Amino acid sequence: MSVITRFAPSPTGYLHVGGARTALYCWLYARKMQGKFILRVEDTDTERSTQESVDAILDAMQWLDLHYDEGPYYQTQRFDRYRATCDQLLQEGKAYRCYCSKERLENLRNTQIENKEKPRYDGHCRDLQEAQAGSYVVRFRNPVLGIVEFDDLIRGKLSFSNAELDDLIIVRSDGVPTYNFTVVVDDLDMKITHVIRGDDHINNTPRQINILKALGATPPLYAHVSMILGSDGKRLSKRHGAVSVMQYREDGFLPEALLNYLVRLGWSHGDQEIFSREELVNLFDLRGVNKAPAAFNMEKLIWLNQHYMKTSSPEHVAKELAWHMQRLGVDTTQGPPLTEIVQAQAERSKTLKEMAEKSHYFYGAVHFNDEATKKHLTANEIPTLTMLRDEFTQLATWTKEPLHQVILNVSEKLGVKLGKIAQPLRVALTGDTVSPPMDVTLALLGRETTLSRINSALILCG
Ligand code: GLU
Repeated sequence: MSVITRFAPSPTGYLHVGGARTALYCWLYARKMQGKFILRVEDTDTERSTQESVDAILDAMQWLDLHYDEGPYYQTQRFDRYRATCDQLLQEGKAYRCYCSKERLENLRNTQIENKEKPRYDGHCRDLQEAQAGSYVVRFRNPVLGIVEFDDLIRGKLSFSNAELDDLIIVRSDGVPTYNFTVVVDDLDMKITHVIRGDDHINNTPRQINILKALGATPPLYAHVSMILGSDGKRLSKRHGAVSVMQYREDGFLPEALLNYLVRLGWSHGDQEIFSREELVNLFDLRGVNKAPAAFNMEKLIWLNQHYMKTSSPEHVAKELAWHMQRLGVDTTQGPPLTEIVQAQAERSKTLKEMAEKSHYFYGAVHFNDEATKKHLTANEIPTLTMLRDEFTQLATWTKEPLHQVILNVSEKLGVKLGKIAQPLRVALTGDTVSPPMDVTLALLGRETTLSRINSALILCG
């Protein structure tokens, strides 16, 4: 049997990191087993679902490079199929029409609460023989006796008593099918073998298994993934910072850093922290996923991001950096290749956002930091900057070594320490006191820009 997994988000908001981790586990497991990974958009809640959210989810999946083999399927395009399955269940007596009014159900609920019972449908319409006038919902005829048991791939054997499960509504009075029903029809039609999803769905699983059995199907295997907590041990939410995948992009993280971070958040392989995609595909196993919830740790994510900024291919990192530069309104079409900026700045940035903010002077006008200018671009620096400019003008090859040699020569000739030469030059070229080493910065800027910036700085000095 070939493995088929699915990620089934409801498009009622952005893709959050918990959802992304579930998607990653589904993707990894399918890849590992050389199976198929399906994307299914569960958009039957037409009031809360939006096209914007669908787009946000698709964008995030693409950014994370979680390629799906099939889909996206949309549940709103499958209503005929749900209707037909509902009719089949009605005909076979496995579902029934329930005409109970809202008032009756409300009274029932209130009485049950007063009697300290769990609110549940009492089966009032379960044995009606005749169709009645008026609106109705369709309920699944859940078995009354026995238990539903399944072997969760993460949590082990779980068992639920049918007596605890009431006859759930599968189609509402407006004809719209409900979540538990559409999931079952889809999982069946799409031949899903492994349902990997958040543990907030554990209580739905016995209901879904019962419906699947009523449809004559063998239920898939289930793996319920625990939730992600904030650093304070509470469920991860906006108040802990970013929760949306694309917010992490905006904050300057690389997709591979976020994925590596998320996979470890709930799964481990010894104490290995860094995994390539290939390694993950080989090593990942649902049985290695933790039952306990995991807490989000920003420092570790930053550490991974730094690692990948330094080790991923500069072309790939440059593509992401280009996105950030564009967001900052920096035109990178003129100037050094972004791959070289990545190589020069990776060591000294925590995120790509920071890298972009620190690199605009390679492309546009220099923004002078007041303090740095006051301190380093004074009349005292005119001889230094003038000599540097003259030596740079005459330099035959504009590469790191000779550029470094020029700075050494000037330092020697003027009898001034290297730092005293480099700092005014740095402010002249970058507007501030922090940049990659001078020879690297000079090489990246090129002769023309260097000379014109020194000339402008000389005016400020004097
Ligand atoms: N649409 C559900 C959700 O976003 C997931 C359902 C499932 O995976 O079975 O929570």
